[in-house]
Amino acid sequence: QAKREGRNVSHVFCHRSSPADKIRVGLESALHHALEREELRLVYQPQVSISDQCFTGVEVLLRWQHPVLGDVSPAIFIPVLEETGLIERFGEWVLRNACQQYADWLSQGLVPEDSKLSVNLSPRQFRQRDLAERIQQLLADCALPPQRLTLEITESTLMVNLDHGVQILNRLRTLGVSVAIDDFGTGYSSLAYLKDLPIDYLKIDRMFVQDIVTDTHDAAIASSIINLAHNLGLKVIAEGVEDSAMLDVLAVFGCDQYQGFYFARPLPAADIPALVTRSV
Ligand code: C2E
Ligand code: MG
Ligand code: MG
Ligand code: MG
Repeated sequence: QAKREGRNVSHVFCHRSSPADKIRVGLESALHHALEREELRLVYQPQVSISDQCFTGVEVLLRWQHPVLGDVSPAIFIPVLEETGLIERFGEWVLRNACQQYADWLSQGLVPEDSKLSVNLSPRQFRQRDLAERIQQLLADCALPPQRLTLEITESTLMVNLDHGVQILNRLRTLGVSVAIDDFGTGYSSLAYLKDLPIDYLKIDRMFVQDIVTDTHDAAIASSIINLAHNLGLKVIAEGVEDSAMLDVLAVFGCDQYQGFYFARPLPAADIPALVTRSV
């Protein structure tokens, strides 16, 4: 143990450690305190049906405001949480707070009773041995019906160990929870595996949506993903819709739902009920 600590210390202070290493170590120690110091908060991005602009749910996204650094992007701090294992504690916090919030909205009639809360799960969270039991307990604690929760995982999360992943998905879906494949089309994946996956939604990555109006190849990919998903009995959610022209193309392609700055940016909980009223 002492030997291990010694080695870590020499690694941290080694004259050869790069600036990037030092930043990483600094972020890591700042993140250790972030929960207790209440530097974390949740924002919610509405998801809307494309055919009739009805509110279908929200995706919850984690935000970290460091007292000195200010807002740090999840693209920077989520990987640090993942590598240090802190994601298990932070992820639990996200799930618990968001599920409680959604249960409150439902009981006050502030969101439609058939709408859903989506929560991102990192690879490490997904591999937790007792994930299904934890989710079940958490839903019971918050009095949130399992049908109101969707868990988002990426292709790469699943491909680490496909057989094991499918088992976990089956357990989650037995509870009544839905599953979405996030950032679809950007990961390492094969189409062959899709047909047997116990999932409910594909989310088309923003990468294919942003130039959908001008780039015929992106349009072809988006359209093909939508047809593929529908033929497999899945619903499709487009990410990163920023204007009405993008939305028009997705509507022609028959995409089911979207989220993006065009409808709303990710917002604090207090701002969500007003948007629901606007959209129904
Ligand atoms: P994601 O799950 O694919 O989330 C969608 C990202 O797209 C969010 O970035 C959102 O703010 C952004 N976005 C939504 N609409 C638009 C748009 O119209 N235009 C543009 N340019 N961007 C849009 P964000 O919040 O920075 O999160 C980045 C990633 O960090 C997420 O990608 C997700 O993988 C991860 N993440 C965020 N919160 C959590 C969390 O609580 N747990 C885990 N495990 N991962 C999280
Ligand atoms: Mg997501
Ligand atoms: Mg995504
Ligand atoms: Mg993403």
